[in-house]
Amino acid sequence: MKKYDQIRRKLIDRRDEIKGRLNKVDQDILHTNGAPDPDSGEQALERENDDVLEALGGLARSELEKIDAALERIERNEYGICTLCKKNISPERLKAIPFADRCIDCADKDVDDMD
Ligand SMILES: [Zn+2]
Repeated sequence: MKKYDQIRRKLIDRRDEIKGRLNKVDQDILHTNGAPDPDSGEQALERENDDVLEALGGLARSELEKIDAALERIERNEYGICTLCKKNISPERLKAIPFADRCIDCADKDVDDMD
């Protein structure tokens, strides 16, 4: 497990960063929704802005899930092993995508192929 200490720290840092950003997004959404001004004509723009914020929030949340899953794999000593073919994921790939759960060969495969 020691061998992934650095990656683990990196993942935790990234998780904190995303959580901070999500909090900010939530506050922005609350803020724009909390003060509607029907006469301003800017409502559509605000709504569009909310959609963007929510889309960002969704992306961040899915990354958060991947990071949590990666941290769990480190705890279970399964980190760096492809969840599909059980081969080792290349260190270069893990460096580029620390939360990768599949090797480069399986990365493009559909999840539904799993059985
Ligand atoms: Zn694989």
